[in-house]
Amino acid sequence: MEDIEGAAPAAPSPSSGSGLDLIGLTKVFPGGTVAVDDVNLHVEHGEYVVLLGPSGCGKTTTLRMIGGHEFPSEGDIVLDGQSLVDLPPHKRPTTTVFQHFALFPHRSVLANVEFGLKMHGVGKEERRQRAFEALDMVGLTPLADRKPRALSGGQQQRVALARVLVTKPKALLLDEPLGDLDRLLQLRMRVELRNLQRQLGLMFIHVTHNQEEALSMADRIVVMNEARIQQVADPLTIATRPATELVARFMGDNNIIRGTVTEREGDRLVVEDEQQVRASVRAPEARQSVGDPAMISVRAAAVIVDPNGATASDLNTAECEIVFVEFLGDLVKLHLLTGGERMLAKVGAEAYPALRGREGERIRISWKEEDVQLLDA
Ligand code: ATP
Repeated sequence: MEDIEGAAPAAPSPSSGSGLDLIGLTKVFPGGTVAVDDVNLHVEHGEYVVLLGPSGCGKTTTLRMIGGHEFPSEGDIVLDGQSLVDLPPHKRPTTTVFQHFALFPHRSVLANVEFGLKMHGVGKEERRQRAFEALDMVGLTPLADRKPRALSGGQQQRVALARVLVTKPKALLLDEPLGDLDRLLQLRMRVELRNLQRQLGLMFIHVTHNQEEALSMADRIVVMNEARIQQVADPLTIATRPATELVARFMGDNNIIRGTVTEREGDRLVVEDEQQVRASVRAPEARQSVGDPAMISVRAAAVIVDPNGATASDLNTAECEIVFVEFLGDLVKLHLLTGGERMLAKVGAEAYPALRGREGERIRISWKEEDVQLLDA
């Protein structure tokens, strides 16, 4: 695993100084559930990091430990050289934005934003000035006197953000912040939130189970599964170079081929599966020799559909039956069967007229060697 680009990193040094370090972070709940298992991660100031993974993988528990809402069983959380684990949430330089924004309905936007500072004993004048600064950051100053019910969902969300920004945290922790919104608002808020984070230059740690949301917003994605980190990498790497089978499956639309290494020459391997599909892959880090099992993935979007069925070689190609032609507006997803194996291809919508209604027909697909990724088991 340690050889794979973007795979889970080794423990960061706690003395690295600036930024956030999770060091061997572990949480075992009473009853024995291991929610988080030896998580090591370094996050820079100004970085937008998304914790992504299926339900129950431990991402919320990780966030709650950073925010002080859960106490680690083992490990340390260090921000700018200072351990946070013994500090209660309100003494930490972090602020959590929960899924349910829970604004006070009878208080004005301004009073909602001032509330956090009041709790910290900040005087009236300073409170007002800082609240206006925060409202300015989210572009809501003209609505300062409105009640939350007189705002749109997106505006309410921005009030909630102003309310946490006013306390000037070093890191903002967001737990499924877009989870409750309808899809159109979600799409708009992704852009707004990301732009706001860039303007503020603040560390954001955002938890979601939504792959598209993570890909569209993060500087780096931390994919978790069963309490552990699977891969840490930028969105392009996660989308095109999944390190493990779990990441490839969770990100979706990856064709996974399990087979045996039939050739190896330097860093180039040929893997063949039971249906005699043969794929070549360049993998300098590969440990496999001829005869060893191997698993590779090819993105559905990297599959080339050849309507004429002509191809020069039998490498990096397969003959398939079209099971279903799924039109998705801007692209077409082809559900295919090769031997007993399901495969997916995604092509542009312009191909739809030629593919519509061709279920049951046979078709040849191919892919380029550079689009094949060797997976860690
Ligand atoms: P989701 O997306 O569903 O919120 P998650 O990835 O955020 O999932 P966590 O909420 O961190 O997952 O939960 C990780 C594991 O810990 C799960 O198995 C969950 O049931 C368990 N767990 C969480 N909180 C507690 C608790 N207070 N007591 C016991 N077990 C818990």
